[in-house]
Amino acid sequence: MRLTAINPMAVTKYWLVLLGLAFLVSCSDAPQSIQFSGNTMGTTYSVTLFTKDPRHTEREIRKKVDVVLAQVNAQMSTYDPESELSRFNQHRSRQPVVISRALERVVSRALEIGQQTDGQLDITVGPLVNLWGFGPMAKPEQVPSAEQLDQVSEYVGYKKLSIENHQLIKQHPQLYVDLSTIAKGYGVDRVAFLLDDLDINQYLIEIGGEIRTRGGKPDGQPWRVAVEKPVSTERTVQQIVSMNEGALATSGDYRNFYQENGRRYSHIINPLTGEPIQHNLVSASVYADDAMSADAYATALLVMGTEQAKVFVQQQNLAAFLVLKTDDGFQQWVSPAFEPLLEKRE
Ligand code: ADP
Ligand code: MG
Repeated sequence: MRLTAINPMAVTKYWLVLLGLAFLVSCSDAPQSIQFSGNTMGTTYSVTLFTKDPRHTEREIRKKVDVVLAQVNAQMSTYDPESELSRFNQHRSRQPVVISRALERVVSRALEIGQQTDGQLDITVGPLVNLWGFGPMAKPEQVPSAEQLDQVSEYVGYKKLSIENHQLIKQHPQLYVDLSTIAKGYGVDRVAFLLDDLDINQYLIEIGGEIRTRGGKPDGQPWRVAVEKPVSTERTVQQIVSMNEGALATSGDYRNFYQENGRRYSHIINPLTGEPIQHNLVSASVYADDAMSADAYATALLVMGTEQAKVFVQQQNLAAFLVLKTDDGFQQWVSPAFEPLLEKRE
């Protein structure tokens, strides 16, 4: 056996290979998966994430998420009489009120989508919602009268609300802002920003069915989420959606409604008629970059009803998934931009 001298270059290379291997091993370390859920905004939330940073613990992240959600509630809840929004609502004057950046952001996006939809998304619809029994007040004993509806409509209308110099202004002292339709989506976005700041880039966040994801799963697979079948009797899947990045929100009138004298009253109000919607569009899902917009558009489509929603989706090139109720059961309609998200059945 002959010994050969090892030249220094070869040694360096050898170490580089070893170092490379060590690096590969550390990279292929499975990331830890963290999952938790809780209550917020009168519903539940859940967070699933993957991280390789050993400093991240479930306890610490959950604590931070809860702080963010408590803050959003303190700003926008109409169920909390002390919230920033409730105080604005109680302020019976046309005097401008300085508002937080968060509230400004949500109200201005809602007003923007209000304009785009000709007032079908209307965050001043609250008094009508309450009259029909779906707001922070109790269910009404009876259906509101035409006079009651007329009276309330004096201070309903998104054009009666404006923002100037970071101040919120109502044109009628009784105007009341209800952000229920967009606040859950905004809450999801805020949790997403928090996780982004923590350098966590694989996550799925959900509040009351509104979802935002980033980065797919460690095995390279996208996140899979289910759009529910629009029935109130059970929770079953209508469609599986696969997504890496982005937000998905669904609005439906199949869970939150009441029935009286054979008529079904939805919690979504058509601001143009002042009455709960009544048509064959039972669920609308929208995929967008942010959950706040997805949430608002989903509600707006539901107000519009099938035909108008399809036209709007095409005009705005939205990624939307509609479920219609027909005599032969449920039918679905998918816009071209939503098509790539559908999980194909084998
Ligand atoms: P859900 O997740 O329960 O479907 P949505 O995001 O669709 O909730 O919002 C429904 C809530 O929005 C209602 O409970 C009501 O407070 C409010 N709302 C009802 N109609 C409208 C409307 N046309 N524009 C804006 N908000 C509305
Ligand atoms: Mg909504």
